[in-house]
Amino acid sequence: MNYDFTPQETAFFTDIAAAVKQATAGGKLDCRNCPMDAEELGSIIGLLARTSYLRLGLEPVEELNGQLTLMGAMEVLAAASPSAYLSVEASIRLFGRSLCQWANSDQKTKLLTPLLAGQITGALALSESNVSAGHQALITKGKKDGPSVVVSGEKQYVINAPVADWIAVAGECGGSMALFFIEKNTPGLIVQPPLATLGYEGTPIAHIRLDGCEIPESQVVFPHSGQNTPDVIKMWENQILLGASLGISSAAFSTARDFAKSHKSGGKPIIAYQEISFKLAEMLTLLQTSQLLAYRTAWTMETNPKEAQELMWCAKVFCAESAEQICSQALQVMGASGYVKANPAQTAYRCAKYNQIAGTSTEIARVKIGDAELGYRE
Ligand SMILES: Cc1cc2nc3c(=O)[nH]c(=O)nc-3n(C[C@H](O)[C@H](O)[C@H](O)COP(=O)(O)OP(=O)(O)OC[C@H]3O[C@@H](n4cnc5c(N)ncnc54)[C@H](O)[C@@H]3O)c2cc1C
Repeated sequence: MNYDFTPQETAFFTDIAAAVKQATAGGKLDCRNCPMDAEELGSIIGLLARTSYLRLGLEPVEELNGQLTLMGAMEVLAAASPSAYLSVEASIRLFGRSLCQWANSDQKTKLLTPLLAGQITGALALSESNVSAGHQALITKGKKDGPSVVVSGEKQYVINAPVADWIAVAGECGGSMALFFIEKNTPGLIVQPPLATLGYEGTPIAHIRLDGCEIPESQVVFPHSGQNTPDVIKMWENQILLGASLGISSAAFSTARDFAKSHKSGGKPIIAYQEISFKLAEMLTLLQTSQLLAYRTAWTMETNPKEAQELMWCAKVFCAESAEQICSQALQVMGASGYVKANPAQTAYRCAKYNQIAGTSTEIARVKIGDAELGYRE
């Protein structure tokens, strides 16, 4: 195991941070109440397309070490702008990865090539109300009708739905799991107004309805049989949420540390008070441990995918819960200054809860870890 980043990787991280900083105008995106529009998201993705960020983890990139570099890069992007990060990841590492894994070459040429060139954006809609994806059949269905497929159903909390050029909708078709690739403005695709959220305020999220939405058969992708597709997608979501947890943790920690060094109380910087320096020490210990666990998970995804699944659940629980603790302590260290909006620690704090809820929630991840261990003992 070697989790050190090379000079090329470090230079690549600097390029990503610079691109996002330029595109998100100093963090305002994460503090306002209206989510970004299609043009804003398109310009962020366009800037990232000039780096190798979009291709990482989807195809080999010269001099960059696959999933491990991706995890480091995710941390950098999430620290620079959690909202931009979540939207970019939903487009690339959910929508794009589903094409990469399961689409045929014509479908890849039509959608994956322009996606990785930063010309289109995507969303992936899996969640349904009252359905535990992976354990229960999805309610969304596609019915063959001549050369077309007619899709009906409802999906909730879809990242990028209000702005995406294409949405990959998970459902069933002819008794098999399928992804229906639906272009914006297709009759029958109804995107509800963007939802207001506690954190990731710049990320556009909405429920969608598919009301007899007719698409050509060539826009239906069938994932490999023998795989539990929702579980595979949850694994991708969990990887995104590990990056998010690392990013918001490091942003909150560095903001609080810099504040503690410069802000004075009683004639000395507050870091000189042991109660404050102990808080920072605990935050850094959690951050470093989260990084190690996330990097090991990324490493294992390539070297031993079977082991990576359980490790991913462990990492998801630890990193997401640590992020909330780190962000809460950061605000405590910063006192009233932390409580005021428009600082990275407060942004991170508002985002932290989502990382425990989405993907495999921390409750369900614990259940799955227990089940896996029970299976190993049999
Ligand atoms: C901001 C946001 C963005 C999202 N983006 C997307 C997206 O782009 N695409 C998409 O498809 N989905 C998306 N989702 C949906 C997200 O993946 C689901 O919200 C998540 O899976 C939780 O589902 P739920 O809200 O229905 O909660 P539920 O599954 O109803 O869970 C409610 C509570 O019960 C607990 N619980 C549920 N089942 C069990 C169990 N078996 N054992 C123990 N505890 C359990 C959960 O841990 C949680 O605490 C998004 C959600 C949010 C909030």
